[in-house]
Amino acid sequence: MNKSDSERLAAVLENIRFAQTEKEAEANLIFVNACSVRQSAIDRIFGKKKKWNKRRETGDLKTFLLGCVLPKDKPKMENFFDAIFDIKDIVNLPKILRKSGVKFKQSKKNGQNKFAPDSDYFHIAPSNSSKVSAFVPIMRGCDHFCAYCAVPYAKGPEISRPARDIANEAKKYIKQGFKEITLLGQNVNSYGLIRPRWKMVDEKTKKIYPPESWILDTKSSKPPFVQLLEEIDKIPGKFWIRFITSHPMDMSLDLIKAVAAGEHITPYIHLPAQAGNDEVLKKMNRQYTIKWYKKIIENIRKYIPDAVISTDIIVGFPDETKKQFRDTMDLFDFARYDIAYIAKYSPRPGTAATHYKDNVPMDEKKRREKILTKKLSEIALARNQKLVGKKIEVLVESIHGQIGFGHTREFRGVKFPYSGSIGEFVKVKITKANPWGLMGEFK
Ligand code: SAH
Ligand code: SF4
Repeated sequence: MNKSDSERLAAVLENIRFAQTEKEAEANLIFVNACSVRQSAIDRIFGKKKKWNKRRETGDLKTFLLGCVLPKDKPKMENFFDAIFDIKDIVNLPKILRKSGVKFKQSKKNGQNKFAPDSDYFHIAPSNSSKVSAFVPIMRGCDHFCAYCAVPYAKGPEISRPARDIANEAKKYIKQGFKEITLLGQNVNSYGLIRPRWKMVDEKTKKIYPPESWILDTKSSKPPFVQLLEEIDKIPGKFWIRFITSHPMDMSLDLIKAVAAGEHITPYIHLPAQAGNDEVLKKMNRQYTIKWYKKIIENIRKYIPDAVISTDIIVGFPDETKKQFRDTMDLFDFARYDIAYIAKYSPRPGTAATHYKDNVPMDEKKRREKILTKKLSEIALARNQKLVGKKIEVLVESIHGQIGFGHTREFRGVKFPYSGSIGEFVKVKITKANPWGLMGEFK
Protein backbone atom coordinates (compact mmCIF):
# COMPACT_ATOMS: atom_id res chain seq x y z
CA MET A 1 0.00 0.00 0.00
CA ASN A 2 2.83 2.39 0.88
CA LYS A 3 4.56 1.57 -2.38
CA SER A 4 1.39 2.44 -4.24
CA ASP A 5 0.94 5.70 -2.29
CA SER A 6 4.59 6.60 -3.03
CA GLU A 7 3.92 6.17 -6.75
CA ARG A 8 1.19 8.81 -6.49
CA LEU A 9 3.48 11.09 -4.47
CA ALA A 10 6.19 10.67 -7.13
CA ALA A 11 3.71 11.74 -9.82
CA VAL A 12 2.91 14.98 -8.00
CA LEU A 13 6.61 15.74 -7.50
CA GLU A 14 7.46 14.99 -11.12
CA ASN A 15 4.63 17.30 -12.13
CA ILE A 16 6.38 20.16 -10.38
CA ARG A 17 9.70 19.14 -11.96
CA PHE A 18 11.45 17.25 -9.20
CA ALA A 19 13.38 14.13 -10.17
CA GLN A 20 14.14 11.08 -8.08
CA THR A 21 17.64 10.22 -6.90
CA GLU A 22 18.95 6.97 -5.51
CA LYS A 23 21.51 8.83 -3.38
CA GLU A 24 20.31 10.35 -0.13
CA ALA A 25 23.18 12.89 -0.01
CA GLU A 26 22.08 14.27 -3.37
CA ALA A 27 18.47 14.91 -2.35
CA ASN A 28 17.13 18.39 -1.57
CA LEU A 29 13.81 16.96 -0.46
CA ILE A 30 13.32 13.73 1.42
CA PHE A 31 9.88 12.19 1.83
CA VAL A 32 9.43 9.41 4.34
CA ASN A 33 6.36 7.26 3.78
CA ALA A 34 6.21 5.68 7.24
CA CYS A 35 4.86 2.30 8.32
CA SER A 36 3.99 1.93 12.00
CA VAL A 37 3.15 -1.78 11.95
CA ARG A 38 6.52 -2.62 13.51
CA GLN A 39 8.63 -0.55 15.89
CA SER A 40 11.85 -1.31 13.95
CA ALA A 41 10.70 0.74 10.93
CA ILE A 42 9.89 3.72 13.16
CA ASP A 43 13.26 3.40 14.93
CA ARG A 44 14.99 3.61 11.55
CA ILE A 45 13.32 6.98 10.94
CA PHE A 46 14.46 8.30 14.34
CA GLY A 47 17.97 7.11 13.44
CA LYS A 48 18.11 9.75 10.67
CA LYS A 49 17.39 12.70 12.95
CA LYS A 50 20.95 13.93 13.60
CA LYS A 51 22.16 13.57 10.04
CA TRP A 52 19.16 15.31 8.53
CA ASN A 53 19.00 18.12 11.07
CA LYS A 54 22.63 18.99 10.28
CA ARG A 55 21.76 19.42 6.61
CA ARG A 56 18.46 21.14 7.41
CA GLU A 57 20.31 23.80 9.42
CA THR A 58 22.36 24.77 6.37
CA GLY A 59 19.18 25.03 4.28
CA ASP A 60 20.40 22.21 2.05
CA LEU A 61 17.57 19.83 2.88
CA LYS A 62 13.83 19.80 3.59
CA THR A 63 12.19 16.70 5.01
CA PHE A 64 8.57 15.55 4.88
CA LEU A 65 6.72 12.77 6.61
CA LEU A 66 3.58 10.97 5.47
CA GLY A 67 2.06 7.53 5.81
CA CYS A 68 1.28 5.61 8.95
CA VAL A 69 2.36 7.51 12.05
CA LEU A 70 0.95 6.84 15.51
CA PRO A 71 -0.34 9.92 17.38
CA LYS A 72 2.20 9.18 20.13
CA ASP A 73 5.17 9.37 17.73
CA LYS A 74 4.07 12.51 15.89
CA PRO A 75 5.30 15.18 18.35
CA LYS A 76 8.76 13.55 18.46
CA MET A 77 8.93 13.51 14.66
CA GLU A 78 8.09 17.21 14.40
CA ASN A 79 11.70 18.04 15.41
CA PHE A 80 13.20 16.82 12.21
CA PHE A 81 10.48 17.08 9.58
CA ASP A 82 9.54 20.35 7.88
CA ALA A 83 5.96 19.16 7.49
CA ILE A 84 3.89 16.10 8.34
CA PHE A 85 0.91 15.39 6.14
CA ASP A 86 -1.57 12.71 5.25
CA ILE A 87 -1.44 10.90 1.91
CA LYS A 88 -4.91 12.35 1.19
CA ASP A 89 -3.30 15.83 1.29
CA ILE A 90 -0.90 15.20 -1.59
CA VAL A 91 -3.39 16.96 -3.85
CA ASN A 92 -2.31 20.08 -1.94
CA LEU A 93 1.39 19.19 -1.90
CA PRO A 94 2.57 22.19 -3.95
CA LYS A 95 0.98 24.44 -1.31
CA ILE A 96 2.52 22.47 1.58
CA LEU A 97 5.97 22.69 -0.06
CA ARG A 98 5.71 26.46 -0.66
CA LYS A 99 4.67 26.98 2.95
CA SER A 100 7.79 25.08 4.03
CA GLY A 101 9.97 27.36 1.91
CA VAL A 102 10.58 25.04 -1.04
CA LYS A 103 10.93 26.90 -4.34
CA PHE A 104 9.83 25.35 -7.61
CA LYS A 105 8.09 26.12 -10.85
CA GLN A 106 4.64 24.75 -11.51
CA SER A 107 4.71 22.64 -14.67
CA LYS A 108 3.02 24.64 -17.41
CA LYS A 109 2.16 21.67 -19.51
CA ASN A 110 0.20 19.70 -16.94
CA GLY A 111 -0.50 22.29 -14.30
CA GLN A 112 -2.96 20.94 -11.81
CA ASN A 113 -4.97 19.06 -14.39
CA LYS A 114 -3.70 15.70 -13.24
CA PHE A 115 -5.88 16.28 -10.21
CA ALA A 116 -9.58 15.69 -10.23
CA PRO A 117 -11.88 18.60 -9.42
CA ASP A 118 -13.04 16.85 -6.26
CA SER A 119 -9.43 16.78 -5.06
CA ASP A 120 -9.53 13.04 -4.45
CA TYR A 121 -5.93 11.84 -4.32
CA PHE A 122 -6.93 8.50 -5.86
CA HIS A 123 -7.43 10.44 -9.10
CA ILE A 124 -3.75 11.33 -9.29
CA ALA A 125 -2.25 9.12 -11.98
CA PRO A 126 0.66 7.40 -10.22
CA SER A 127 4.19 7.35 -11.57
CA ASN A 128 4.34 3.55 -11.75
CA SER A 129 7.70 2.14 -10.71
CA SER A 130 7.10 -1.02 -12.72
CA LYS A 131 6.10 -1.16 -16.37
CA VAL A 132 4.61 -4.62 -15.95
CA SER A 133 2.65 -4.59 -12.74
CA ALA A 134 0.30 -1.85 -11.52
CA PHE A 135 -1.04 -1.39 -8.00
CA VAL A 136 -4.62 -0.22 -7.63
CA PRO A 137 -5.71 0.74 -4.10
CA ILE A 138 -9.41 -0.03 -3.68
CA MET A 139 -9.86 1.11 -0.09
CA ARG A 140 -8.07 2.73 2.80
CA GLY A 141 -7.96 2.14 6.54
CA CYS A 142 -9.17 -0.74 8.68
CA ASP A 143 -12.18 -1.36 10.94
CA HIS A 144 -10.98 -4.56 12.58
CA PHE A 145 -8.96 -3.34 15.57
CA CYS A 146 -6.90 -6.47 16.13
CA ALA A 147 -5.48 -6.04 19.61
CA TYR A 148 -1.82 -5.76 18.50
CA CYS A 149 -2.23 -3.60 15.42
CA ALA A 150 -1.41 0.05 14.79
CA VAL A 151 -3.14 0.31 11.41
CA PRO A 152 -6.68 1.38 12.49
CA TYR A 153 -5.17 4.17 14.62
CA ALA A 154 -2.70 5.34 12.01
CA LYS A 155 -4.90 4.97 8.91
CA GLY A 156 -8.42 5.50 10.25
CA PRO A 157 -11.66 3.69 9.33
CA GLU A 158 -12.24 1.71 6.14
CA ILE A 159 -13.25 3.86 3.21
CA SER A 160 -13.82 2.19 -0.14
CA ARG A 161 -13.30 3.79 -3.55
CA PRO A 162 -16.14 3.87 -6.06
CA ALA A 163 -16.14 0.64 -8.06
CA ARG A 164 -16.36 2.47 -11.42
CA ASP A 165 -13.20 4.47 -10.68
CA ILE A 166 -11.31 1.31 -9.81
CA ALA A 167 -12.53 -0.56 -12.90
CA ASN A 168 -11.64 2.44 -15.10
CA GLU A 169 -8.15 2.71 -13.59
CA ALA A 170 -7.60 -1.01 -14.21
CA LYS A 171 -8.85 -0.64 -17.82
CA LYS A 172 -6.45 2.26 -18.38
CA TYR A 173 -3.47 0.20 -17.19
CA ILE A 174 -4.38 -2.76 -19.39
CA LYS A 175 -4.65 -0.40 -22.36
CA GLN A 176 -1.23 1.05 -21.51
CA GLY A 177 0.25 -2.45 -21.65
CA PHE A 178 0.48 -3.42 -17.99
CA LYS A 179 0.21 -7.18 -17.56
CA GLU A 180 -0.72 -7.45 -13.92
CA ILE A 181 -3.17 -5.52 -11.76
CA THR A 182 -2.88 -5.87 -7.99
CA LEU A 183 -5.91 -4.66 -6.02
CA LEU A 184 -4.80 -3.34 -2.65
CA GLY A 185 -6.41 -2.88 0.74
CA GLN A 186 -5.85 -3.88 4.36
CA ASN A 187 -8.87 -6.13 3.95
CA VAL A 188 -9.89 -6.22 0.31
CA ASN A 189 -12.75 -8.60 0.95
CA SER A 190 -14.53 -6.13 3.21
CA TYR A 191 -14.52 -3.69 0.28
CA GLY A 192 -17.83 -1.82 0.20
CA LEU A 193 -19.16 -3.46 3.36
CA ILE A 194 -20.42 -1.40 6.23
CA ARG A 195 -20.03 -2.65 9.73
CA PRO A 196 -22.80 -1.78 12.14
CA ARG A 197 -20.38 -0.22 14.57
CA TRP A 198 -19.63 2.59 12.11
CA LYS A 199 -21.92 5.53 11.64
CA MET A 200 -23.81 5.72 8.40
CA VAL A 201 -23.28 9.48 8.07
CA ASP A 202 -19.86 11.11 7.98
CA GLU A 203 -20.22 14.06 10.34
CA LYS A 204 -17.73 16.23 8.50
CA THR A 205 -18.89 15.78 4.93
CA LYS A 206 -22.48 14.72 5.71
CA LYS A 207 -22.00 11.98 3.12
CA ILE A 208 -23.99 8.81 3.60
CA TYR A 209 -22.14 5.49 3.54
CA PRO A 210 -22.10 3.25 1.70
CA PRO A 211 -22.80 5.30 -1.42
CA GLU A 212 -24.22 3.23 -4.25
CA SER A 213 -21.08 4.01 -6.26
CA TRP A 214 -19.13 1.52 -4.13
CA ILE A 215 -21.26 -1.27 -5.48
CA LEU A 216 -21.67 -2.17 -9.13
CA ASP A 217 -24.96 -4.00 -8.94
CA THR A 218 -27.14 -3.03 -6.02
CA LYS A 219 -29.46 -5.98 -6.68
CA SER A 220 -26.72 -8.61 -6.61
CA SER A 221 -26.35 -10.62 -3.44
CA LYS A 222 -22.64 -11.16 -4.04
CA PRO A 223 -20.27 -9.16 -1.80
CA PRO A 224 -19.15 -5.89 -3.41
CA PHE A 225 -15.53 -7.11 -3.68
CA VAL A 226 -16.61 -10.16 -5.67
CA GLN A 227 -18.64 -7.92 -8.01
CA LEU A 228 -15.59 -5.70 -8.44
CA LEU A 229 -13.29 -8.64 -9.22
CA GLU A 230 -15.75 -10.04 -11.74
CA GLU A 231 -16.06 -6.63 -13.42
CA ILE A 232 -12.28 -6.31 -13.81
CA ASP A 233 -12.08 -9.92 -14.99
CA LYS A 234 -14.35 -8.95 -17.93
CA ILE A 235 -11.72 -6.57 -19.37
CA PRO A 236 -10.42 -8.18 -22.58
CA GLY A 237 -6.71 -8.91 -23.11
CA LYS A 238 -3.97 -11.02 -21.61
CA PHE A 239 -3.29 -9.96 -18.03
CA TRP A 240 -3.41 -11.22 -14.46
CA ILE A 241 -5.37 -9.91 -11.48
CA ARG A 242 -4.05 -10.25 -7.93
CA PHE A 243 -5.45 -8.96 -4.65
CA ILE A 244 -4.06 -8.49 -1.14
CA THR A 245 -4.93 -8.79 1.76
CA SER A 246 -7.97 -10.97 2.56
CA HIS A 247 -9.26 -11.14 6.12
CA PRO A 248 -10.51 -14.62 7.10
CA MET A 249 -13.61 -13.10 8.74
CA ASP A 250 -14.87 -11.73 5.40
CA MET A 251 -13.70 -14.62 3.21
CA SER A 252 -16.84 -15.71 1.37
CA LEU A 253 -17.43 -18.82 -0.69
CA ASP A 254 -18.48 -16.45 -3.49
CA LEU A 255 -14.95 -15.01 -3.52
CA ILE A 256 -13.32 -18.44 -3.67
CA LYS A 257 -15.64 -19.43 -6.54
CA ALA A 258 -14.90 -16.17 -8.36
CA VAL A 259 -11.15 -16.87 -8.17
CA ALA A 260 -11.74 -20.41 -9.43
CA ALA A 261 -13.90 -19.24 -12.34
CA GLY A 262 -12.00 -16.07 -13.27
CA GLU A 263 -10.12 -15.92 -16.55
CA HIS A 264 -7.55 -13.40 -15.30
CA ILE A 265 -7.83 -13.81 -11.52
CA THR A 266 -4.78 -15.64 -10.21
CA PRO A 267 -5.00 -18.58 -7.78
CA TYR A 268 -2.99 -16.88 -5.07
CA ILE A 269 -4.66 -16.14 -1.73
CA HIS A 270 -2.99 -14.33 1.13
CA LEU A 271 -5.02 -15.25 4.18
CA PRO A 272 -3.33 -14.15 7.41
CA ALA A 273 -4.09 -16.55 10.27
CA GLN A 274 -1.88 -14.79 12.88
CA ALA A 275 -2.16 -17.80 15.25
CA GLY A 276 -3.37 -21.39 15.27
CA ASN A 277 -5.10 -21.35 18.65
CA ASP A 278 -8.60 -20.09 19.48
CA GLU A 279 -7.69 -18.53 22.83
CA VAL A 280 -4.85 -16.57 21.26
CA LEU A 281 -7.06 -15.52 18.35
CA LYS A 282 -9.73 -14.34 20.77
CA LYS A 283 -7.21 -12.27 22.70
CA MET A 284 -5.95 -10.86 19.42
CA ASN A 285 -9.56 -9.89 18.57
CA ARG A 286 -9.31 -11.64 15.21
CA GLN A 287 -13.05 -12.49 15.16
CA TYR A 288 -12.75 -16.03 13.74
CA THR A 289 -12.01 -19.46 15.09
CA ILE A 290 -9.55 -22.02 13.80
CA LYS A 291 -12.48 -24.18 12.75
CA TRP A 292 -13.72 -21.33 10.52
CA TYR A 293 -10.23 -20.67 9.15
CA LYS A 294 -9.70 -24.36 8.34
CA LYS A 295 -13.07 -24.48 6.56
CA ILE A 296 -11.91 -21.65 4.29
CA ILE A 297 -8.67 -23.50 3.56
CA GLU A 298 -10.69 -26.64 2.73
CA ASN A 299 -12.90 -24.67 0.36
CA ILE A 300 -9.90 -23.08 -1.35
CA ARG A 301 -8.29 -26.50 -1.83
CA LYS A 302 -11.60 -27.91 -3.10
CA TYR A 303 -12.44 -25.18 -5.63
CA ILE A 304 -8.89 -24.06 -6.54
CA PRO A 305 -6.67 -27.15 -6.17
CA ASP A 306 -3.54 -25.46 -7.53
CA ALA A 307 -3.84 -22.37 -5.30
CA VAL A 308 -0.88 -20.96 -3.42
CA ILE A 309 -1.98 -19.88 0.05
CA SER A 310 0.17 -17.58 2.16
CA THR A 311 -0.22 -16.25 5.66
CA ASP A 312 0.97 -13.80 8.32
CA ILE A 313 1.80 -15.16 11.77
CA ILE A 314 2.69 -13.42 15.01
CA VAL A 315 4.77 -15.48 17.43
CA GLY A 316 5.06 -14.66 21.12
CA PHE A 317 1.81 -12.73 21.55
CA PRO A 318 1.31 -12.02 25.31
CA ASP A 319 0.73 -15.25 27.29
CA GLU A 320 1.12 -17.51 24.23
CA THR A 321 2.13 -20.84 25.72
CA LYS A 322 4.33 -23.47 24.09
CA LYS A 323 1.25 -25.64 23.68
CA GLN A 324 -0.68 -22.85 21.99
CA PHE A 325 2.30 -22.25 19.70
CA ARG A 326 2.23 -25.93 18.72
CA ASP A 327 -1.32 -25.34 17.42
CA THR A 328 0.17 -22.80 14.99
CA MET A 329 2.65 -25.48 13.86
CA ASP A 330 -0.26 -27.88 13.34
CA LEU A 331 -2.05 -25.25 11.28
CA PHE A 332 0.98 -25.11 8.96
CA ASP A 333 0.64 -28.87 8.42
CA PHE A 334 -3.06 -28.46 7.69
CA ALA A 335 -2.90 -25.41 5.43
CA ARG A 336 0.31 -26.34 3.55
CA TYR A 337 1.35 -22.73 3.05
CA ASP A 338 3.87 -21.85 0.34
CA ILE A 339 4.68 -18.46 1.81
CA ALA A 340 4.43 -17.09 5.36
CA TYR A 341 5.41 -13.76 6.88
CA ILE A 342 6.36 -14.57 10.45
CA ALA A 343 6.68 -11.67 12.91
CA LYS A 344 7.80 -11.59 16.53
CA TYR A 345 5.19 -9.74 18.57
CA SER A 346 6.14 -6.19 19.51
CA PRO A 347 3.83 -3.87 21.48
CA ARG A 348 2.55 -0.87 19.52
CA PRO A 349 1.72 2.24 21.56
CA GLY A 350 -1.98 2.90 21.99
CA THR A 351 -3.17 -0.57 20.93
CA ALA A 352 -5.30 -2.80 23.17
CA ALA A 353 -2.58 -5.46 23.56
CA THR A 354 -0.35 -3.02 25.44
CA HIS A 355 -2.59 -3.76 28.45
CA TYR A 356 -1.09 -7.25 28.48
CA LYS A 357 2.44 -7.86 29.61
CA ASP A 358 4.80 -8.61 26.71
CA ASN A 359 5.82 -11.69 28.65
CA VAL A 360 7.20 -14.11 26.07
CA PRO A 361 10.99 -13.60 26.24
CA MET A 362 12.75 -12.49 23.05
CA ASP A 363 14.79 -15.71 22.91
CA GLU A 364 11.60 -17.74 22.99
CA LYS A 365 10.04 -15.56 20.25
CA LYS A 366 13.15 -16.13 18.13
CA ARG A 367 12.98 -19.87 18.79
CA ARG A 368 9.34 -20.02 17.68
CA GLU A 369 10.09 -17.94 14.60
CA LYS A 370 12.93 -20.32 13.68
CA ILE A 371 10.82 -23.44 14.18
CA LEU A 372 8.01 -22.09 12.00
CA THR A 373 10.41 -20.92 9.30
CA LYS A 374 11.93 -24.41 9.20
CA LYS A 375 8.50 -26.02 8.96
CA LEU A 376 7.45 -23.63 6.22
CA SER A 377 10.62 -24.31 4.22
CA GLU A 378 10.00 -28.07 4.36
CA ILE A 379 6.39 -27.70 3.21
CA ALA A 380 7.20 -25.15 0.50
CA LEU A 381 10.15 -27.24 -0.78
CA ALA A 382 8.01 -30.36 -1.04
CA ARG A 383 5.33 -28.43 -2.92
CA ASN A 384 7.83 -26.72 -5.24
CA GLN A 385 9.65 -29.98 -6.00
CA LYS A 386 6.48 -31.39 -7.54
CA LEU A 387 6.80 -28.75 -10.26
CA VAL A 388 10.29 -29.83 -11.43
CA GLY A 389 10.11 -30.98 -15.05
CA LYS A 390 6.85 -29.12 -15.71
CA LYS A 391 6.44 -26.25 -18.17
CA ILE A 392 4.86 -23.30 -16.40
CA GLU A 393 3.75 -19.87 -17.56
CA VAL A 394 5.72 -16.98 -16.05
CA LEU A 395 5.25 -13.22 -16.38
CA VAL A 396 8.72 -11.67 -16.79
CA GLU A 397 8.96 -8.73 -14.37
CA SER A 398 12.67 -7.90 -14.40
CA ILE A 399 15.95 -8.91 -16.02
CA HIS A 400 19.31 -8.77 -14.28
CA GLY A 401 22.21 -9.50 -16.61
CA GLN A 402 21.11 -12.54 -18.57
CA ILE A 403 18.70 -13.75 -15.88
CA GLY A 404 14.98 -13.15 -16.10
CA PHE A 405 12.78 -13.05 -13.01
CA GLY A 406 9.03 -13.35 -12.75
CA HIS A 407 6.13 -15.06 -11.05
CA THR A 408 3.83 -17.90 -12.02
CA ARG A 409 0.05 -17.39 -11.94
CA GLU A 410 0.12 -18.83 -8.41
CA PHE A 411 2.77 -16.26 -7.38
CA ARG A 412 5.79 -18.54 -7.23
CA GLY A 413 9.01 -16.70 -8.06
CA VAL A 414 11.01 -18.15 -10.99
CA LYS A 415 14.53 -17.34 -12.25
CA PHE A 416 15.77 -18.45 -15.66
CA PRO A 417 18.34 -17.48 -18.32
CA TYR A 418 16.53 -15.06 -20.62
CA SER A 419 17.34 -12.64 -23.38
CA GLY A 420 13.84 -11.40 -24.22
CA SER A 421 12.01 -8.39 -22.81
CA ILE A 422 10.02 -7.74 -19.65
CA GLY A 423 6.23 -7.91 -19.66
CA GLU A 424 6.16 -11.15 -21.69
CA PHE A 425 4.28 -14.28 -20.65
CA VAL A 426 6.71 -17.14 -21.29
CA LYS A 427 6.60 -20.90 -20.76
CA VAL A 428 9.49 -21.91 -18.52
CA LYS A 429 10.59 -25.51 -17.91
CA ILE A 430 11.27 -25.89 -14.19
CA THR A 431 14.67 -27.49 -13.56
CA LYS A 432 15.25 -26.87 -9.86
CA ALA A 433 13.21 -26.05 -6.77
CA ASN A 434 14.10 -24.53 -3.44
CA PRO A 435 11.75 -23.52 -0.62
CA TRP A 436 11.57 -19.87 -1.67
CA GLY A 437 11.44 -20.18 -5.43
CA LEU A 438 12.02 -22.06 -8.66
CA MET A 439 14.69 -22.10 -11.36
CA GLY A 440 14.10 -23.01 -14.95
CA GLU A 441 15.00 -22.76 -18.59
CA PHE A 442 13.31 -20.99 -21.43
CA LYS A 443 13.87 -22.14 -25.00
N1 SAH B 1 -4.70 -6.52 7.34
C1 SAH B 1 -3.81 -7.59 7.41
C2 SAH B 1 -2.48 -7.28 8.06
C3 SAH B 1 -1.83 -5.96 7.99
S1 SAH B 1 -0.48 -5.66 9.09
C4 SAH B 1 -4.47 -8.72 8.22
O1 SAH B 1 -5.41 -8.52 8.91
O2 SAH B 1 -3.98 -9.79 8.23
C5 SAH B 1 0.71 -6.79 8.49
C6 SAH B 1 1.17 -7.84 9.48
O3 SAH B 1 2.01 -7.27 10.45
C7 SAH B 1 0.07 -8.50 10.28
O4 SAH B 1 -0.57 -9.49 9.55
C8 SAH B 1 0.81 -9.04 11.48
O5 SAH B 1 1.24 -10.37 11.27
C9 SAH B 1 2.00 -8.08 11.60
N2 SAH B 1 1.86 -7.23 12.79
C10 SAH B 1 0.98 -6.22 12.98
N3 SAH B 1 1.14 -5.68 14.21
C11 SAH B 1 2.14 -6.37 14.81
C12 SAH B 1 2.76 -6.30 16.09
N4 SAH B 1 2.38 -5.44 16.99
N5 SAH B 1 3.78 -7.17 16.34
C13 SAH B 1 4.19 -8.06 15.41
N6 SAH B 1 3.62 -8.18 14.22
C14 SAH B 1 2.61 -7.35 13.90
FE1 SF4 C 1 -4.33 -4.63 11.56
FE2 SF4 C 1 -6.20 -6.45 12.06
FE3 SF4 C 1 -6.73 -4.36 10.48
FE4 SF4 C 1 -5.11 -6.29 9.62
S1 SF4 C 1 -7.28 -6.51 10.12
S2 SF4 C 1 -4.77 -4.08 9.45
S3 SF4 C 1 -4.04 -6.86 11.47
S4 SF4 C 1 -6.28 -4.29 12.65
